[in-house]
Amino acid sequence: MLKSFSSLALCCIALMLAPAAFAQEPNALTIADQSVAPGTRADFRITVPARGDELESFIPVTVLHGDEEGPVLATVAGVHGFEFSSILAVDRLPDRIDPTDLSGTIIFVRIANIPSFEYRTPHLNPVDRKNLNRSFPGSPDGTSTERIADLISREVVARADFLMDLHSGDAGEFLEPFVGVYGGPLATDFDLALEVARGFGFPNLVQYKMNTQEQVDTRRSLNRQGVAAGIPTILVELGENGSRLEEHAERVATGVQNALGILGMWDKPRTNVPPAVRYFESSTAVRAEHSGIYYPVDLDRRYVFEGDLIGTIRDYTGKEVQRLYSPIDGYALYGKRGPSMREGDPVITIGIPTEAF
Ligand SMILES: [Zn+2]
Repeated sequence: MLKSFSSLALCCIALMLAPAAFAQEPNALTIADQSVAPGTRADFRITVPARGDELESFIPVTVLHGDEEGPVLATVAGVHGFEFSSILAVDRLPDRIDPTDLSGTIIFVRIANIPSFEYRTPHLNPVDRKNLNRSFPGSPDGTSTERIADLISREVVARADFLMDLHSGDAGEFLEPFVGVYGGPLATDFDLALEVARGFGFPNLVQYKMNTQEQVDTRRSLNRQGVAAGIPTILVELGENGSRLEEHAERVATGVQNALGILGMWDKPRTNVPPAVRYFESSTAVRAEHSGIYYPVDLDRRYVFEGDLIGTIRDYTGKEVQRLYSPIDGYALYGKRGPSMREGDPVITIGIPTEAF
């Protein structure tokens, strides 16, 4: 009788302890019908189903699911498939991180826009000629780009606690390295996002203040999808003109690895990086009013002042049709190198300087 009571008591004690004992062990992660066990890596494709004349496509993903609880970091490369720094960084990162060393989960979208990557088309998905970074949250019933956006919104962003959207200067674009950090009343945890942004060691930091729902919704980018999902979000930009430099891939990789430390997901030593030297409270774009041949001026002088000539556009008869001037004092963060120009396109994006934030 005594023995039986003891067994019962032990059994009860074990049951009482069970929740605490297992609290640190995460469940398997399910994403796009793939189940990833704790402490393991999974490489798979999210299928983008065929629709109408559009063939089936896919989104290559690697998930590292740690064997201890922690945040879910979504790291997305290749929203623009001709921006290679981030694609090359994400290609190497999963091999450096042992999931058994990880607290939490990393979802690497290795190349979001496979049609753009494989057909080498800057800016656009060649299937429907839409810009994935203006197509969120997407739709399962839409065209190719909208279906990709829908799957990334539902399968990746909706599962994440932090979003990194990794880009470069595309073909025909100059770009100063910067990290954009989402702030303002509609963004989440600006301070954490800023700390992660600093871990990249880029010279320029831009704060995008989300003050209105219209800002979040209009031609919504992937990073604004992160804002809409209520998670801290950064936009990482390094490389230009379709470059593919080893140094750039490594700097992006270093920033992601440092982020794992900042987010408490990985206890490897962080890499020291230089502090930011310029801060911007937002940015403004100057747009082309005509299609034609664009001649930029003085691209190496990155500070511009109100009224400075930025470039000229000539039409296809050689007649000058537009002179573009800076509308503000600021800093040329990125823009077109020319010569091709299309009416309505942003020609240059000028950061509006501010004190450190
Ligand atoms: Zn991009």
